Amino acid sequence: MGLNDSSPGAMRNGRGLSDQWAESVVVRPRTTERHITVHKRMVLGFALSILTLIIVTAVAVVLSVRFEECAGRDRDGAAGESGSRGGGGGSAKLNGSKGERTGERADEEGVQPWRNSRLPGSLRPRHYDLQLAVYMDNFTFSGEVSIELECVNATRFIVLHTDRLEVDRVSVTAESSAGGRQANRPGGGVMRIHRHFPYPANQMYVVVLHRELKPMRVYRLNMSFDAAIEDELLGFFRSSYTLQRERRYLAVTQFSPIHARKAFPCFDEPVYKATFTLTLRHDPQYTSLSNMPVESSSLSDEDGWVTNHFSRTPRMSTYYLAWAVCNFTYKETQTDGGVTIRLYARPDAISSGAGDYALHITKRLLGFYQDYFKVQYSLPKLDLLAVPKHPYAAMENWGLSVFVEQKILLDAEVSSSSYQMELTMVVVHEICHQWFGDLVTPVWWEDVWLKEGFAHFFEYVGTDFLFPKWNMEKQRFLTDVLHEVMLLDGLSSSHPISQEVDQATDIDRVFDWIAYKKGAALIRMLANVMGQTLFQKGLNDYLLSHMYSNAARDDLWNKLSQAMRSEGRDIDIGGMMDRWTLQMGYPVVTISKNQSEQLPTHYITVNQEHFLYGQDVRNNNSLQWQVPLTVAVGNESSVGSESLIWINNKTESHMIGQMDDKTWLLGNINQTGYFRVNYDLPNWKLLIQQLHRNHQIISVGNRAGLIDDAFNLARAGYLPQGVPLQLIGYLPEETSFLPWHSASRALYQLDKLLDRTDEYSLFSDYVLKQVASRYHQMGWPTNVPGNEGNVLQASYQTEELQRELIMLACSFGNKQCHRQAVAYISDWISSNKNRIPPNIRDIVYCTGVSLMDEDVWEFIWMKFHSTNAVSEKKILLEALTCSDNIFLLNRLLNLSLTSDLVPEQDVIDVIIHVGRNPQGRNLAWKYFREKWDVLNARYGEALFMNSKLIGGVTEFLNTEKELNELKEFIQASGVGTGPAWPRALEIVEGNVRWHRLHRRQFYQWLRKPPNLG
Ligand SMILES: [Zn+2]
Repeated sequence: MGLNDSSPGAMRNGRGLSDQWAESVVVRPRTTERHITVHKRMVLGFALSILTLIIVTAVAVVLSVRFEECAGRDRDGAAGESGSRGGGGGSAKLNGSKGERTGERADEEGVQPWRNSRLPGSLRPRHYDLQLAVYMDNFTFSGEVSIELECVNATRFIVLHTDRLEVDRVSVTAESSAGGRQANRPGGGVMRIHRHFPYPANQMYVVVLHRELKPMRVYRLNMSFDAAIEDELLGFFRSSYTLQRERRYLAVTQFSPIHARKAFPCFDEPVYKATFTLTLRHDPQYTSLSNMPVESSSLSDEDGWVTNHFSRTPRMSTYYLAWAVCNFTYKETQTDGGVTIRLYARPDAISSGAGDYALHITKRLLGFYQDYFKVQYSLPKLDLLAVPKHPYAAMENWGLSVFVEQKILLDAEVSSSSYQMELTMVVVHEICHQWFGDLVTPVWWEDVWLKEGFAHFFEYVGTDFLFPKWNMEKQRFLTDVLHEVMLLDGLSSSHPISQEVDQATDIDRVFDWIAYKKGAALIRMLANVMGQTLFQKGLNDYLLSHMYSNAARDDLWNKLSQAMRSEGRDIDIGGMMDRWTLQMGYPVVTISKNQSEQLPTHYITVNQEHFLYGQDVRNNNSLQWQVPLTVAVGNESSVGSESLIWINNKTESHMIGQMDDKTWLLGNINQTGYFRVNYDLPNWKLLIQQLHRNHQIISVGNRAGLIDDAFNLARAGYLPQGVPLQLIGYLPEETSFLPWHSASRALYQLDKLLDRTDEYSLFSDYVLKQVASRYHQMGWPTNVPGNEGNVLQASYQTEELQRELIMLACSFGNKQCHRQAVAYISDWISSNKNRIPPNIRDIVYCTGVSLMDEDVWEFIWMKFHSTNAVSEKKILLEALTCSDNIFLLNRLLNLSLTSDLVPEQDVIDVIIHVGRNPQGRNLAWKYFREKWDVLNARYGEALFMNSKLIGGVTEFLNTEKELNELKEFIQASGVGTGPAWPRALEIVEGNVRWHRLHRRQFYQWLRKPPNLG
């Protein structure tokens, strides 16, 4: 969003151009003038010839100026124009033969490759030599880059990316042949430059040469430039932290997806892989880091500055290059294979041991991935850098991965197990990227899910390796990935996972939950269809075939199909997966016992249709999938083995095991498939009876799946509202975390719809009734800070279930739960000792703030400022949003946005959490609209942030009035180009529709729940 609107950037480019103009005039035209003088003398006698020459030259000049004007008018800034005229006009007048002139005009006017949003592809960078001097005192840097280029197709244009760089000197030389020395002839192979200029509209820089570069030849482009170390979290940016009351600065890079061009001129598309050698010069009080280790280091006698030369990288994409200048300290460890892993962070965090956990798991993870992929980690070292500010949770730069502190520093004294789990998964994700991403990189951004989907899927697989008892891939994956993304992907405003990306501004959009979560869910489905061994074999082959290079989705499908064929299983994986990746959404598969008289009773009918929440948009869609449906038949005492049926058509009949009136059908065994399953009502009734009588017959994953499917099918109108409510009636018997988690997610969704309705207590009472017995039985955790130290070993499932029940009980109004929370807070205030178990602190803080008086809010606010533990800071801040005092909420919102009391990346969470609070909903919605310009300017360019904010603030809106306010706002503010607005609108429309169509039926059922017959 901010990409085209970079007025400060344009200013800088303008200044850069005057320098460039000066350089061109001083150096190049002088040599050509001398040349012309000699030439004139020689042709004195040939009046006719010279007249011809003058006429031709004059015509050429006129045409050239016209052309320049034409090009200039199309460009954004006047600065760009004067620059290109100065640099180009001067030498163009006096050079070249007639033939070249005409050819050049046709060439430039006709081609102008910088007007395309993609690089022309005539040149390939092979190596970058990048030297930077970093000035931390005034936050600027200056650099020189020397790029070795291989010419693929003859061209006179060198087009590459720059953004916000002040380019001064540019030169091009021809090298002898394949990468050798410069051509050994007068001028050292210098190629004469016709003109060079930035083209800000496409963030490009263009060097136009007099003569063509020849295919198969190697050239060297040298550019020098200056730029600022920005305060914005992109490119090469700065941030700060406080150590012993002293403010300290650091500067670090974030190049993904298209910000390397803000730090040096480069071919900033992932397919232009090259090697890099980096040299950083800076004040010796700082340390510098990059992807590779320091090869040599020297101190200048003059100013005492240090120069670090980093080793040459392997071939990699520009957006994975990284460096940092900071005064952090580190801890290190070594893998058995000799890879040095260091964790760099604020000195106080290192000395407190907050980085030890991440360091420990990273070491184990490198071993895990090397075994799993059967491909060694490629670099001699891996640094993990914990920074106070970062636009994302983390960034997987090869050998120098950067994490925001909250996702890598763990203070075992106060961190909850969910904080630890989140952190663990971020680390697992980034380490996976060292293979899927760094080593093999998607060709283009449309297939970004090829790396993000894999890394997200492996978060669960890798965490299972670290903590097998957590059972992440079989369980937590369902609620956190599958159920979560099916909510989004069931909207008609969703999009295919492979999205066309043309403009730079489209690129940010592909990094969304569809890419991450649907990508992971599809990969998991495929892994289950293939089986672990063949899946692993295919991945190994894919990585080995494309290492240090790029790959597209077809490359992956080919390798996976090959692996299948090697075992005699001939499945066209590409053909199957194209349905899932090129089409949006997913199917609902309806299984019914055969009703037809022609077929025997052991036949089932299976029907597929595109699942959509909005009934009105369903009719005219004809999307179909190749669905790997697993089905099992069961009864009261046992369940038969599953069979795999491929569903290719809209409706199909299939033979299944023997059935009678008491047998039920269950589809999508363990929810490995990315689709919903619906049944005829008698089958739903049998499944519900089964859950009530003996739920253990059905797997944990399927119990969670049945709950999620039932609630969502009812929400979309495929099922009566009573079915899911009746289904969760078995929960008092449920002892596993996952079905509870699945149910609570669905119940909070409903809560958001219902919490301002008159009959709300019917709903909350029903929920409390399901929760009460299990809640009382499990009680509250007894561990207190000081004797933990063992979060790692704790039985995660039990702890999580206990936490889930306390959360449900407290948020739906269980009196005992409220008393317990209040007692904990009172104890904390009176003793000034926090004895609240870390795992439930967020619930206790929030409940305390909402029930107790203003002093408690002030107390939490004070604690928020005084704590240094990042995890604690975050939940204290969120607790402040739980107050029902509008004045306090308003104060919090204003302080968040206008002061630096609240960390920048947390401001969005504050607004969303205020909106989540029924008392704060109107306030957050109003505040959001009033401050939209400020918020959009601040977070517009950061991936996720903006759509998270838009979704977070609007998803609670559910009245006609609010829907109209939303529509008016979208219209008045001219937003709506991004995908977040149509999605928000569709969700709110769906909320309003649910009230209109289903609320009555829902409450009717609650008033008089029928008995299970
Ligand atoms: Zn990632």
